Amino acid sequence: MLLGTLLLASVLTANVVETRFQKYLCNDASINELVKIDNEGVTIEGLEKVRYASVPVKQNKPLRKIKIAIDPGHFGGDYAKLEHRSFLVGSVRLQEGDLTLKTAHKLRELLVNAGYDVFMTREMPGQGASSEMYDNEEPFKAYNIRDLKERARLINAYGPDLTVCIHYNIHSGGEGNVCAPVPHNFCCAFVPGGFGEGELVRLEDKGDLLRLLLTDDLEKSIELSRCILASFEKNLGVPCQTNRSHLKHICKWAGRGIFARNLVLTRKIAGPICYGETLCMDSEEEYLALTRNRPHEAAFAYFNGIESYLAEPSYSERP
Ligand SMILES: [Zn+2]
Repeated sequence: MLLGTLLLASVLTANVVETRFQKYLCNDASINELVKIDNEGVTIEGLEKVRYASVPVKQNKPLRKIKIAIDPGHFGGDYAKLEHRSFLVGSVRLQEGDLTLKTAHKLRELLVNAGYDVFMTREMPGQGASSEMYDNEEPFKAYNIRDLKERARLINAYGPDLTVCIHYNIHSGGEGNVCAPVPHNFCCAFVPGGFGEGELVRLEDKGDLLRLLLTDDLEKSIELSRCILASFEKNLGVPCQTNRSHLKHICKWAGRGIFARNLVLTRKIAGPICYGETLCMDSEEEYLALTRNRPHEAAFAYFNGIESYLAEPSYSERP
């Protein structure tokens, strides 16, 4: 059942799979004990061994429009305070879920005009991917997880060639989410990986780890993120997070500004994914600009990053 969705570009060997596992996927000794990798295949505790020889070979470049999924992070609108993503920075109210949506709408326009097929997980402020609605904190928290899973389900059903999750970062939430503007700014990206203690219990998590071990989704995600971060630096002037210890307790370093992190979306969405933390909302250079054209400038930066990824020989030279 799990193998039905596995796709492979390069030849699988124990060495390739072990490197993937140790470098990006395993972030705790307890995870190490649940996974056995040998010359024939991979065994995750509780699952049957999957042999490399049984993994289907990847389809090449599609004979159709390239499909791109966009997830505008969070909810915004009336949900922004409930999800703790509404900030008073200086005198300006910034809601992450509204900024991501603004960027996503512009990015979709750019992509559609360039001939891509695009799917977005949500359209309106204060709206998630599922139709459930809540107005207080406790049910909202559980709903938030269900909504993330619904976003992943919808994206996987669409079957994109790549996915971008759009986010804006903040240095500190502050008391009552009031933030003083700070002189720092950075961008970074999350890719799949970094399975920590207790994160390999459910069957669905084991299935997701298996896919990440036996496909090149991880390497493709890193490459996509590298292109998008390079575009952030060039087109937005936002420097990459180069501190390897950034979020060290939950992430593994996966390249300059790129961190393997076991989020619901990075884990569950199949194919190349870049979960972009575009810039810091409380940066003194950004917070006012974000009320003007900055979210659209960010969309151009995502667009240019996606285009440079798709122009790479490893992508475009496939038959
Ligand atoms: Zn976010």
